[in-house]
Amino acid sequence: MPREKKVENYDVVVIGGGPAGLTAAIYAGRAKLKTILIEKALIGGLATYTNEIANYPGFPEAPKGEEITNLMKKQAEKMGVDFKLTAVKSVDLEGDIKTVETFRTTYKTKVVIIATGGRPRTTGAKNEEKFLFDKGISFCATCDAAANTGKHVVVIGSGDTAIEEGLFLTKFARKVTVSVIHDCGKMDCNEIAKEAALANPKMEFIWNTVVDSFEGEERLERVILRNLKTNELIPVECDTCFEFIGYIPNTELFADQLNLTKAGYIITNEKMETGIEGVFACGDVRDKWLKQVSTAVGDGAIAGFAAEKYIEETKTFKELIMQDKKPGIVYLYNAIDVASRDFLSTIEKIEKESSGKLAVARIDVYKSKGIADRLNVNTFPSVVIIKDGKIYQVITEDLSEEKILSCL
Ligand SMILES: Cc1cc2nc3c(=O)[nH]c(=O)nc-3n(C[C@H](O)[C@H](O)[C@H](O)COP(=O)(O)OP(=O)(O)OC[C@H]3O[C@@H](n4cnc5c(N)ncnc54)[C@H](O)[C@@H]3O)c2cc1C
Repeated sequence: MPREKKVENYDVVVIGGGPAGLTAAIYAGRAKLKTILIEKALIGGLATYTNEIANYPGFPEAPKGEEITNLMKKQAEKMGVDFKLTAVKSVDLEGDIKTVETFRTTYKTKVVIIATGGRPRTTGAKNEEKFLFDKGISFCATCDAAANTGKHVVVIGSGDTAIEEGLFLTKFARKVTVSVIHDCGKMDCNEIAKEAALANPKMEFIWNTVVDSFEGEERLERVILRNLKTNELIPVECDTCFEFIGYIPNTELFADQLNLTKAGYIITNEKMETGIEGVFACGDVRDKWLKQVSTAVGDGAIAGFAAEKYIEETKTFKELIMQDKKPGIVYLYNAIDVASRDFLSTIEKIEKESSGKLAVARIDVYKSKGIADRLNVNTFPSVVIIKDGKIYQVITEDLSEEKILSCL
């Protein structure tokens, strides 16, 4: 008989245990939200595959990636975050309570934070697996350029990233050989990058080629290129091979529910909000410019903080604002505006004189803009009158005690 699935309830489920997910979990845990982080492979994510992180602030000794992410994990555990090592198989993101399914468990949660990162596209050539990451095949010039000072490197690809990163590598490497799949002079990058690359004396191009295999003992020693027209095999001795033939975001699970870019990245705003309320995305999985540990951490902090705000505002909205027990007044004001602040005394008077017959809420929109958005109000100060749990009237002009009382 099939085993029945367990159901567990959480405030926040974080999917993905890289730097973005770990940071989001630290923030959510610290806000005393019941939080679980689900990771399918290694806690620490892509950062664990690098031997030296030299550009993450606060770590001048350039430690291994996992040393940094282990500290993040420790910190998340200290904040009371639960961890589960398993793959998320499906999600249902709509509604106030979302569902995250793993093989054995159904997680019910108010917030989902997606931090599933991505993976570099690889060539699929022979022996590639053997040299991935710290054995001579790299996907990150920012990370590994300095270690190749004075060396010979190969770049695979001719798109914007390949050529711009190739140009960057010429500042460190003695020689940058670029393998391009197209005919001589044809590249996929923008014209400015193309001109600069062709004019750079440190860059050499081998046209009409793809990688046939990678060779070396412990570390990569040479890349064997194959000419697509003649089938000639061209060995290129090198220290590192940088593959820039694309990056694949891990968004297959969300493709039919969230807005994605053409390349499959999740579109968010600066609060890491996706198109669905209560669903946030952070780190490499979202559409952004610089994919690094430091930016993943920044995104994660925003997502964790935004999750806290969302949960708090949802509670206030349901229990205090859209309540249906008695007529309600919602005063939306900006605390830094003097006139707005002064009118608080009028609201207080109305509340006092109603002797408990009115439900009065004061919302400082500087702190809780989300509530104003939910009420669809963007002029402040405003008063929203609630009757039978519904918006009855919105007063945005000439606020006065008389006007408010006349609407009740
Ligand atoms: C070789 C290499 C070297 C790098 N070096 C540096 C460097 O020196 N400095 C720097 O700042 N950046 C570096 N980077 C970039 C950095 O590692 C990434 O930008 C960063 O790890 C992104 O963090 P993230 O949390 O968004 O995603 P990731 O680190 O990719 O983590 C995502 C996690 O989600 C998990 N996941 C995916 N799908 C599921 C699922 N369905 N269920 C459960 N879990 C799932 C994955 O297993 C993964 O662990 C390097 C990248 C590479 C590839």
